Amino acid sequence: MEFDDIETVAVLGAGNMGHGIAEVAALAGYEVNLRDINEEFVQDGYDQIEWSLEKLADKERITDEEADAALERVTPVVPVEDAVSEADVVIEAVPEKMEIKKDVYGEVEEYAPDEAIFATNTSSLSITELSEVTDRPEQFCGMHFFNPPVRMQLVEVISGEHTAEETLDAVEQLSEAFGKTPVRVRKDSPGFIVNRILVPLMNEACWMVSNDDATVAEVDSTTKFDMGLPMGAFELGDQVGNDVTYHVLEYLHEVLGEAYEPAPFLEETVEAEKYGKKTGEGFYDYEDGDGADVPTDAGSEDIKLRLAAVMANEVGNLVENDVSNPGDIDEAVMLGAGFPDGPAKMADDVGVERLVETLEELHEETGHPRFEVSDALRAAADEGGFHGGEDGDDDGVEFTNIEVEYPGDMVGHIVLSREARMNTINPDMLGEIEEAIELFEDDDDVRGILITGKGDRAFSAGADVTSMASSAEPLDAIELSKQGQSTFGRLEESPLPTLAAIDGFALGGGFELAMCCDMRLASERSELGLPEHNLGLLPGWGGTQRLQRLVGMSRAKEIIFTAERFDADTMYDYNVVNEVVANDEFEERAHELAADLAGGPPVSRKLTKRAMHRGWEDTEAGLELESQAFGHLINTDDLMTGITAFMGDHEPEFEGK
Ligand code: NAD
Repeated sequence: MEFDDIETVAVLGAGNMGHGIAEVAALAGYEVNLRDINEEFVQDGYDQIEWSLEKLADKERITDEEADAALERVTPVVPVEDAVSEADVVIEAVPEKMEIKKDVYGEVEEYAPDEAIFATNTSSLSITELSEVTDRPEQFCGMHFFNPPVRMQLVEVISGEHTAEETLDAVEQLSEAFGKTPVRVRKDSPGFIVNRILVPLMNEACWMVSNDDATVAEVDSTTKFDMGLPMGAFELGDQVGNDVTYHVLEYLHEVLGEAYEPAPFLEETVEAEKYGKKTGEGFYDYEDGDGADVPTDAGSEDIKLRLAAVMANEVGNLVENDVSNPGDIDEAVMLGAGFPDGPAKMADDVGVERLVETLEELHEETGHPRFEVSDALRAAADEGGFHGGEDGDDDGVEFTNIEVEYPGDMVGHIVLSREARMNTINPDMLGEIEEAIELFEDDDDVRGILITGKGDRAFSAGADVTSMASSAEPLDAIELSKQGQSTFGRLEESPLPTLAAIDGFALGGGFELAMCCDMRLASERSELGLPEHNLGLLPGWGGTQRLQRLVGMSRAKEIIFTAERFDADTMYDYNVVNEVVANDEFEERAHELAADLAGGPPVSRKLTKRAMHRGWEDTEAGLELESQAFGHLINTDDLMTGITAFMGDHEPEFEGK
């Protein structure tokens, strides 16, 4: 089955995952047969899809018509034959029990067309073993979505022992057509990528408590505020479900050995049926207690090193066994678990050598096999890190928080690309933005800069608050503010014209970044605001100064003091946004406007910008600069080009001379 021939998708199981996968497939334009074992279950799944589509339409992520059309493409069915006899791909999301899944594949094999691909959404079972129940193991692979499929970007596409390359290609392309990011898992290895990192992390957190090396509060404070993970490790465990973590860990233990022995504290928690949020109590008490109340200042360097070391060792294990590579592992963990950086990058930042030493010390102390250093981790230490040898062939600029693109028409395009974190801005991103500006300014083929955010949810939802909280010392915070001011100032001062094209949220630091651009374009669904006062902060990346220049002091105070989000039309009325466009015209218009700006006369524009900025505070100085610039421009080739074009009634092509 080639990707281009896929039209109909059967989803088996209309539960938590099945209904979400069906919704994603229908939204992408596929005909979907959703199957469950009885009318009631399948109808429940269908109703949930309807509810979720309505919510997406309410939030203007899709139109009402798109929601209706997607729902119409979903057919709820009970007989297996009706579900699969016309299917090009069968995605199975029935309960995580080997026997149930094997029965399902036996039945499906009977009715599905010979060329159909089978993909299982299993979180932990062996893809190879499942594939062998069918007569088409080469057309069988894992397609592991994350919960909830509508929102989570990652799909792990897993090869079984018999899976053909074409099957993996088709399923990866299908994942992309679903609007997801596939990451290939080259081997059917327990936990695949994301769970193989997260579950041992959870287990190590539990070992620390079991051995009285740390408390729950200390571990969570470290993970949340010092490591910048989206939640504390225990908080995350309660969210995922401690029974689920334990189940995966038992499987790792069974297949991979003693290094994955569950920690007593985890076992006790599960035995007491403290499964987490869903049961009202887990590591934290959500009913009678305060829930996950994580202190900001109880973290420690030892805990951070130990957890980073355990994760890095798992990266080593995955690399060593040829399951994946550090780049893919980082991408998967960032998208699947919302980490600000992947575990390989984190290890590089701390220093892989230091992590090897940490593991060796712990191994000597405890003798436990989980601290045995993997060969690939040692090799990474020798090479100066997991990413040490990668991308070393060009000019040394490596962007991980932004993407730098050249869409043509003399435009240099910066895409803020921390999509899993709503493109929030961290210190590394600031550095990369500055490097990209320099790259563009040094490039004769670039005459204008366009800045957008990746995905359709946010331009940027602000500064990465977790990285701010980790620098809770006043002096560090001042440094962070200064770093942002300097990068944004650099952008404002650029001789190139700059356009911020906003689709979704532009909040806090994201809004301040947009303020530094010469112009702002926004899609209708966008919302802009400065929520800092809600946090007891103030806009620290130039917002207190630049906003009042755009809108006047009184409006600026309104926007900052109310800390509200304002829609694009209101921001147009307030003179913040130059133009508002329909959501579906956004991309095209952004490029058109950026190209338009880039096509202007480079020297005049540079001098005009300089005169305007200089004159803002000091009109005399501005006027002086203006007259000097005017004199300079009289002598340029561009002036002749402009005049000739004007006389000949055609568009000028400026050389910048
Ligand atoms: P669920 O219990 O919510 O849904 C399973 C559904 O399958 C139920 O509605 C059940 O009635 C139905 N079912 C049972 N036998 C069936 C059959 N023979 N044919 C069709 N339907 C049948 O479970 P879930 O959380 O959606 O998990 C489904 C799969 O997805 C599991 O393999 C799980 O490991 C995997 N998964 C779950 C998550 C998660 O966070 N829940 C994340 C990723 C993957």
